[in-house]
Amino acid sequence: MKQNSPRVKEKIKAAIAKKVIAAAIIAIVPALFILLLMMFFMQGTGINKNPMAMAKGIDIPAAYLTLARQSSDENEIDFAYFLTLSAEMAKFNPDKYKSDLIPKVLERARTGSPASLNKSSKTIYDMYSGYYNYLNASPIPKSKITTTRTKRLKSVNPEEYEYETSTTETFYSYSHYDDFGAQRTFGGNRAHEGNDLIASAGVPIVSISDGIVRDMNWNDFGGNIVGVITGPDTYFYYAHMQSFNPDLHEGDYVNAGDLLGYVGNSGYGPPGTTGMFVNHLHLQIGIKIDGLKERFYVSPYNIVTFLDDYRVTIYEEISN
Ligand SMILES: [Zn+2]
Repeated sequence: MKQNSPRVKEKIKAAIAKKVIAAAIIAIVPALFILLLMMFFMQGTGINKNPMAMAKGIDIPAAYLTLARQSSDENEIDFAYFLTLSAEMAKFNPDKYKSDLIPKVLERARTGSPASLNKSSKTIYDMYSGYYNYLNASPIPKSKITTTRTKRLKSVNPEEYEYETSTTETFYSYSHYDDFGAQRTFGGNRAHEGNDLIASAGVPIVSISDGIVRDMNWNDFGGNIVGVITGPDTYFYYAHMQSFNPDLHEGDYVNAGDLLGYVGNSGYGPPGTTGMFVNHLHLQIGIKIDGLKERFYVSPYNIVTFLDDYRVTIYEEISN
């Protein structure tokens, strides 16, 4: 057999190298494509096992929530369903939740129903309905109306009184910014998993959702805390209270707008610790879904901003 000359050998080597490169490209390009597709899908649906990605999936800008709530109320469409369609059409991109999306979502919502959603959309719908459908009040009320009734003895018969009534209205304010994920150092370096609402000591705190009072106790991080849970296992956590509503107990059912307690600065130490930081309400929202062992926390910032349109007035009657 004829031996290949060195020059021919070089040519063969070059040819082999070309083939190897071509094969590598053929193998890598589809692999990269599949990887990108997976990343897009995971981000696009908001469904994966990464809590931070999940948190992104559930967070919808406050301005859009206001428009969506209005439109879904006016057209008697389930709010969570409206938001599920919105999220899909906006591809979970915060910049795409714009007012021009509303009529498009409305059109799709009118021709479909939550029952007609496909499997991945159904997961999003379940998550949203456990969350958005229960929100109905800002945690800080707009005002409190106090009615004082003063008894005065009218006659010798102690059953007969006349009352002098005075009514006063106290207005409340708070401030907050998007501090979800900010660094916290008490108990080691960790990310802030809620939203801090700065308000004066003693300002009432009401439940933002309907639900059951699961916890009402002290914990070293949160001080006096109340935890309210909705049916689908969404956990609303209110921390650093000065005191609890004395008429509230663990296991009670609360409606959105019901009094939970009062703003304070308890926490960051053993029971009774106060004054480690300014008076504020720490609101934290944990979501549990099928397939995830732990709750994951979502930013309450947009929710609190959205709920500013839903500030309640609470009433107090005092008899002397
Ligand atoms: Zn906080």
